[in-house]
Amino acid sequence: MAEVKSNSAAPAERKLSWVEEVEEEEAASKSAPSWGEAAASAVDALAIGQGNFNSFLDEPQSNIKLVTTGDTPYISASTFEDLNLTPELLKGLYMELKFQKPSKIQAISLPMILTPPYKNLVAQAHNGSGKTTCFVLGMLSRVDPNLKVPQALCICPTRELAIQNLEVLQKMGKHTGITSECAVPMDSTNYMSFAKRPPVTAQIVIGTPGTIKKWTSAKKLGVSSVKILVFDEADHMLAEDGFKDDSLRIMKDIQRMSAHCQVLLFSATFNETVKNFVSRVVNDHNQLFVKKEELSLESVKQYKVNCPDELSKIMVIKDRIFELGENLGQTIIFVRTRHSAGMLHKSLVELGYEVTTIQGALKQEDRDKIVKEFKDGLTQVLISTDLLARGFDQQQVNLVINYDLPVKHENHSEPDYEVYLHRIGRAGRFGRKGAVFNLLMSERDQMLMEKIEQHFNSQIAQVASWNSAEDFKGALKAAGLL
Ligand code: ADP
Ligand code: MG
Repeated sequence: MAEVKSNSAAPAERKLSWVEEVEEEEAASKSAPSWGEAAASAVDALAIGQGNFNSFLDEPQSNIKLVTTGDTPYISASTFEDLNLTPELLKGLYMELKFQKPSKIQAISLPMILTPPYKNLVAQAHNGSGKTTCFVLGMLSRVDPNLKVPQALCICPTRELAIQNLEVLQKMGKHTGITSECAVPMDSTNYMSFAKRPPVTAQIVIGTPGTIKKWTSAKKLGVSSVKILVFDEADHMLAEDGFKDDSLRIMKDIQRMSAHCQVLLFSATFNETVKNFVSRVVNDHNQLFVKKEELSLESVKQYKVNCPDELSKIMVIKDRIFELGENLGQTIIFVRTRHSAGMLHKSLVELGYEVTTIQGALKQEDRDKIVKEFKDGLTQVLISTDLLARGFDQQQVNLVINYDLPVKHENHSEPDYEVYLHRIGRAGRFGRKGAVFNLLMSERDQMLMEKIEQHFNSQIAQVASWNSAEDFKGALKAAGLL
């Protein structure tokens, strides 16, 4: 049966120091209801059109809970036609993207996004479940094609994600004539002095917070007609150690200039800290969310491998995973630092493997080239820092290796649970099968892994021996990859 979020679902942890800060602020300002309160009041006003949302909510793996505020009935869309889209947009969905029907998050969230009074929305859904289509279709549908000014803005944490989202938008909107532009730092080859560039006329702008802020404060990007503002990977965009300041500034600038702007926040993860904060900054929003214990993808099998030393971690990758995985699909190896990336790259290349590596210190054009080669299938194995941990979508990726486990910036004995979930979500896109190998070397690694298992309430299977080909074969078979 569909579960409706009420304030009885107690927030699990309150560890970070700035949670206290937020709570203090909350106590001082009673104006905006907290996540829990908003949810509780919304239960009374819950309005679900014809009850057919429930059929989605009952399906295994969907486990998306929803809370609506106000009295707008929303009817979930079982086909794209149900959404009253223009024929041009339907053509984009069917012919360019080759989609047949909406995924669950699309079926539920799109009516919320597209129905007046265009309420704000905070939407959590699994990795690879199709969130991009929700907000891209939202932006394309709400833009007035005849008004040649910026009307929709989408802000993403990385250049790679902004470019990827723009590519989806341009495919989906191919037949609409709607114009779009990417706001990311320019690469050095086609650099143009910022002051000399003409003002932005594109109707939809997708970019990173630094560049968008720069363009808006220099008045190159006018926001007075912006009626829809999207944050992809929104929990990171609003986190203290993410882009909180820039995001709030952009949000406030738009709210000041534009009469009514719908705000959409999308992510696979919203920890309690961010949830509480979101309730304060985004008024009167509908919500969709998933319990953290239900966030891991069933189609992606997770393993841990004990390795006696660092060289054996490299040997596991080379002799076990590459040997068996070579013909399977593509692999992403995540490392914690740029240094670690360089070291692993060097070791694997010296052993005769072709790998490419991406990290934030590379030049913009090199980053773009490495991503393009991987997306075009020209490279099989990509080493990455957490630069690509979030949002990166490549359906052929079915193996993820955590060479290092992700830890919190401020405390290296604490796992970064959200980053872990995002990293493993690079495999198994849209229900595909995948496997993750966590390479553990020290007692600290063991402890981090245990904490991750507890947090998501899932037991991660152990590969019995790091140097047994049979054990790895068994693991890949169990994941459905062999
Ligand atoms: P996330 O929820 O992680 O942001 P994405 O939006 O990146 O997921 O989508 C994951 C993959 O699923 C993409 O490759 C996308 O093309 C595909 N996809 C999304 N919606 C549909 C759909 N309705 N039918 C088929 N494939 C879809
Ligand atoms: Mg995404």
